[in-house]
Amino acid sequence: MAKKVLVIGEVRDGELRNVSYEAVAAGKEVADGGEVVGVLLGEDVSGLAESLIHYGADRVIVVNHADLKTYTTDAYQQALLQVLDVENPEGVLLGHTSLGKDVSPRLAMKLNAGLISDAISVEMDGGDAVFTRPIYSGKAFEKKKVNEGVVFATIRPNNIPPLEKDESRSGDVSNLTVDIKDLRTVIKDVVRKATGGVDLSEAKVIVAGGRGVKGKEGFEPLQELADLLGGAVGASRGACDADYCDYSLQIGQTGKVVTPDLYIAVGLSGAIQHLAGMSNSKVIVAINKDPEAPIFEVADYGIVGDLFEILPILTEELKST
Ligand code: FAD
Repeated sequence: MAKKVLVIGEVRDGELRNVSYEAVAAGKEVADGGEVVGVLLGEDVSGLAESLIHYGADRVIVVNHADLKTYTTDAYQQALLQVLDVENPEGVLLGHTSLGKDVSPRLAMKLNAGLISDAISVEMDGGDAVFTRPIYSGKAFEKKKVNEGVVFATIRPNNIPPLEKDESRSGDVSNLTVDIKDLRTVIKDVVRKATGGVDLSEAKVIVAGGRGVKGKEGFEPLQELADLLGGAVGASRGACDADYCDYSLQIGQTGKVVTPDLYIAVGLSGAIQHLAGMSNSKVIVAINKDPEAPIFEVADYGIVGDLFEILPILTEELKST
């Protein structure tokens, strides 16, 4: 049965995050031939609406408001509840990002609706959207559906491919004015740590270092390799605890969960807590001098040897291709 599905786009630094397009693709499936409506929130985000349409949204609602410039739970929740009130959708999809993880349970709770978080795929079964999500740190998968009412779901980045971009697609773009009041928190300023250009949670290639890189400067060749591959640098908690890099790079159970196309694990042992954050990567390459290191159990390709010898060879080889 055709449904109306809202997809909440996520804007960062004036651009839509990739997961927004991936959520549109998931939305097409859930809508089952119905309407996919993109929703954009921000201070001045009208210019991004067309892009959502090119990737499959049928129309887009834009909510511009000074209080939506930077995400706060309060302001986004108030604005989105008003959008939901006007649109009355059967499904609502968001990225499984900090924003999506924060606001989706609040919205679902207000609407007394079911929420499926961290979905990696969706298929229709007799008119119901059935989502697959990893459980037990990625060791098993469960299929879940919401039995009645509005279906809320968050989509893990890098799992559902976006639809082909089609610049000939057109759709209605409308503005909605919302009333935001009594905010309990206001963002005065955002001070960002200077990390690399590619967002770790959405990166297609990740070069991750562990305690084996031996120091801050040990991360430099990893950054060089990541840059060559258009990827991002990540780290084990061992490397973060040793102050070789910032905790924002930590991947694992208590860090970021990533699913890149290529994960190169360099000088990290592959502790269970690290695997929890990366074992669903599509291709895993491990470089470790210990042939017994657990990382080799999940690796598709393993190189046993000294990372300080192997990395320069890899980098040179890539430069020459
Ligand atoms: P090590 O285990 O010390 O491994 C270093 C590896 O480098 C070794 O395998 C060694 O053979 C190799 N090596 C050394 N020198 C070289 C060389 N020259 N060339 C090639 N290889 C070399 N960890 C995470 O990563 N993420 C998490 O989110 C996380 N959450 C945790 C939560 C809890 C509650 C707990 C208790 C722990 C958590 N940990 C997490 C920590 C985890 O248990 C490990 O301690 C940590 O992952 C180890 O980091 P490492 O692999 O860099 O270090």
